[in-house]
Parts: sequence; structure tokens; C-alpha cells
Amino acid sequence: MHPSIETHAPPQADPALAAWREVDLDAIARNVRALADVAAPASLMVVVKANAYSHGAVEVARAALANGATHLGVAVLEEAFELRSAGVTAPVLAWLAGPGARYAEAVARDVSLAAYSCTQLEEVARGAASVGGRAQVHLKVETGMWRGGAAGEWRELVALAARLQRRGSIAVVGVWSHLACADDPESPSNDAQMRVFLDAVEEAERAGLEPAWRHLANSAATLSRPDMHLDLVRCGLAAYGVDPLAGRGATVRLEQAMTLRATVTHVKDAPAGAGVSYGHTYRTPAATRLALVPLGYADGIPVVPGPTARAGWKGHAVTLSGRVCMDQLVLDVGQLPVQPGDEVTLLGTGRDGEHTVGRWSNLTGRSTYEVLTGLDRRRVPLVHVRGRP
Ligand SMILES: *Cc1c(COP(=O)(O)O)cnc(C)c1O
Repeated sequence: MHPSIETHAPPQADPALAAWREVDLDAIARNVRALADVAAPASLMVVVKANAYSHGAVEVARAALANGATHLGVAVLEEAFELRSAGVTAPVLAWLAGPGARYAEAVARDVSLAAYSCTQLEEVARGAASVGGRAQVHLKVETGMWRGGAAGEWRELVALAARLQRRGSIAVVGVWSHLACADDPESPSNDAQMRVFLDAVEEAERAGLEPAWRHLANSAATLSRPDMHLDLVRCGLAAYGVDPLAGRGATVRLEQAMTLRATVTHVKDAPAGAGVSYGHTYRTPAATRLALVPLGYADGIPVVPGPTARAGWKGHAVTLSGRVCMDQLVLDVGQLPVQPGDEVTLLGTGRDGEHTVGRWSNLTGRSTYEVLTGLDRRRVPLVHVRGRP
């Protein structure tokens, strides 16, 4: 479904690649091990929705499960089915489905389902009964984010769940919710959500349910709120090596796994005062060399005004000059001897002079999640490496 090239050789070995996303599975493995340690004794679910935040869902799922994750989380059923089709057998929870969703297939393929309402839970139970199976259900309670989850209906939902469980069409394996402000550890809503959540768990227990997995924490809460780990934490961003708290949480070393690279297609000399790209928003301050890179906003390059954006070339930061175009952008490389065919790094760990995901986020006002998921474009191949060359 997603273009993916498994390779263990440096990707520049393939001259056909003009631009590519390079994902370091070793970095993901180390991040997951570190998160599993922080979460313990709670278990770790790694969230691989949106093609694992652009990193490749199947490859990340395998790396996560081999390094301490016990569960996988996705949004929609199709994402869970993709994992099952690839032979991933670990517990997978899909938390976003509406009327008419393929619940029967989910039960048959052992995909755990979230239920937000009585109507939905009844539909899940009917789907399970139609295939003679038992749905593994995680009941979601509203605790203060006001997105998905049962609010005033919670008592009714747990009572219905207990009845359906006795009949055998479902098994309630989890009770869960989601935090709205975990990336702001000072926010009073974190404690407020936790209180509502614990009350809701008690209510479920009073109804006779014994959910094995109580879960509330995302990456930020995993790093900052050990008291919220409960039985299971759900980490996305941190597993990809981006810190949602920018260092304000636990001192866990996270390594950004994503690097976006391209090869220079064209280089030329330009005089001082040359207006570069649409609208001439950049003028060369001096005679210089300009390098053309075959990546643009259609590939998910965030558009940053002014000469604050950069790329890396052999350890030198070069300036992204003028407007990013749909498929291409121009770098002012000064007097550096950049040649067509040279590799440049648009987004990465910063090692080559480029910006990190966090820095792009600061510069553009887009969240780190948007910067990452924006890169999942079919025409930019995904290359998985183990360790950086
Ligand atoms: C995306 C998501 C997560 C993971 O959040 P991160 O901040 O990336 O760790 C966890 N739970 C739910 C319900 C989500 O939608």
C-alpha cells in the first residue's frame, strides 16, 4: 500500500532515488526500549496510525514488538488489517470506526475494537456474532478532551458491556481515555482527567467488568506522569524520537528516526541581488551558487518564510532561499562546491546542518505531528536503514 524499500545499504547506492525518506529502525528500536523501561511495570503500546507517522507501519510495528512493545495502536480498521496482512500477530487496537465499519472482519482477524457508545457496542457485538467470534473491546470514556468516548452514557455502556460479555459476543479487555493537554504538564486538566478516569474505571468494576488494560497516557504523559501509566501506555511521537515535552519530561534519550534527503539536480552561479523563486521573496546578498533540489510542498516540505530554513550538505548548513515550489526548492549554497548529484538533507537529526522536526515545527507553527505526517507522500520513497552510515 505504501511504497517501501527495505535496504540495509546506504540509500545513495540507488541512483534512481532523487528524494527519499530514510527511517532508522535502530533509532526506533532504541526509543522503544527506553520507553518500555520508563513505562514498566506498565506495558507499552506503540501507535502506528498514519503509516506510523510516515515511518512505515509494518516495519515500525516489527521493530517495536522486537524491542519491548506488547501492543500496537491504530486509528482506522484498514490500518489494523494492513498489519495483519503483513503477518503481525500482536494485539492491535483500532479506535476509530463508525456505523457500517467492518467489525465482523475485525473480530475474525483478531483486531481489538474501541467502543464509544451503546449503539456502537451493539453493532460490534452483532459483527462478532455474525462470525461466531468474540470481540475484544476497549471501552472509551470521555474524561475531558471531548473528542471520542462515552460521556453521560458511561453507566449504561458498562451495564450493556457486562450483559454482552455474559452472552459471549464481546470481552471487555480495556477501559481507556485520552488526554487533551499532556504536553503541558502544568495544565490542571491532566489531574482532572485522571480523576474522572479512575471514577469511570470504578463504575465499570461495579458493573462486574474486570478490564485487564486501563490506559490513559500518550507519549507526553508517559514521560512526565508515572502515576498515569496504569496498565498500559500508548506512545506514538516519542517512539519516532521526537520529544513532545522538549526535554521537560523524564530524561530519556530519544533519537529522531526520520531523515528527508534528496540529490541536487542542478547548480549555477548567480550574481548579487538575484531574486530567487516565485515572488522574489529572497535576493542573493552576494554573488553565490544556487542548487536546485527536487522536493517541494507537494512532498510535505513545510513552507517557511525568509532565510531561516536550511538544509545540510556534508555538515554545512545551507540556506533555503525563496519560496518552496510544488516540486522543487532552491538552496543558496554560497561558495561551497556543491555539485549535481550531491546529497542534501532537508530534515533530520541536525548532524549535517539541517533542521530537526522540532525546529521545523517551531519555524512553521505546525505541530511536530503535522510535520511528520505531512511527509507521507507516495512519490517520496521510504527507505528503512539500520543505523546511519
Ligand atoms: C495518536 C494517539 C496516541 C499517541 O499520541 P502521541 O502523543 O504521539 O504519543 C495515543 N492515543 C491515542 C488515542 C491517539 O490518537
